[in-house]
Amino acid sequence: MSTTTFVLCVVGHFFFSLFMHSFFLHRYVTHEQFTMSRFWERVFYFLTWFSQGPAFLHPKAYAMMHLEHHEHSDTKKDPHSPLNFSRSRLGLDFAVAAPRMMLATKRLYFQIKQEAHAIVELYRQRKFPEWRWFEGFASSRSIMIVMGGLFASFFLFFAPTWWCWLLLPISILSGPIQGGIVNWCGHMWGYRNHILPDNSRNTWALSTLTLGELFQNNHHHDPKRINFGERWFEIDPIYWMILLFSKLGIVRLKPGLEVSVRI
Ligand SMILES: [Zn+2]
Ligand SMILES: [Zn+2]
Repeated sequence: MSTTTFVLCVVGHFFFSLFMHSFFLHRYVTHEQFTMSRFWERVFYFLTWFSQGPAFLHPKAYAMMHLEHHEHSDTKKDPHSPLNFSRSRLGLDFAVAAPRMMLATKRLYFQIKQEAHAIVELYRQRKFPEWRWFEGFASSRSIMIVMGGLFASFFLFFAPTWWCWLLLPISILSGPIQGGIVNWCGHMWGYRNHILPDNSRNTWALSTLTLGELFQNNHHHDPKRINFGERWFEIDPIYWMILLFSKLGIVRLKPGLEVSVRI
């Protein structure tokens, strides 16, 4: 395999995983922006695991942590605000502070996943999508090792040169890395359409690269709004995918939700 083809495969996988992260975990499971049948829910459950592999993000734990982020955005109680980790007003210490933020997020995520954190009690009444045996299967140590081995095997068989191996950690940890990028940039760098009490920003330069997730200021202003873009130059690719899925009958949009009005 040529180097170009190999890198394209790795990048393609990263975007596949990012799509599942944004479309399924963030917009469907957490914010309930649209509905889907049990069949499609299971299909996307499977695809989320398949794309994230050994670092599969447990949907319910992810959702609870993310809802806490919205509830306490950029305060001391925010699970992953960069403001709680950076000593630079402009976030210039990201190389040191962002990994610290991600490690703290990981610790909290596992506590929630194991139902060993008080946050879990706050969401007892909320019905999240669940698929218990599959979650147990996907999170079991043996399956995580098998998936990690599968990811590594692709590199073993196809990596044309040594430096391609530097991309393996990005493939294995795609979900947490995507979360780290959005959490840091979307609350540190960019402009604001809405004056909110938090520090959420629209990081336009990276917005397409994160499939629309980096319009955090728009998203925090109205978390139920399907289209994260609001102005003509703010393109949210996942929004268009959701509209396509709606046309194909895969998802159902909720009546009354604002989907296309621009400011
Ligand atoms: Zn945010
Ligand atoms: Zn959100």
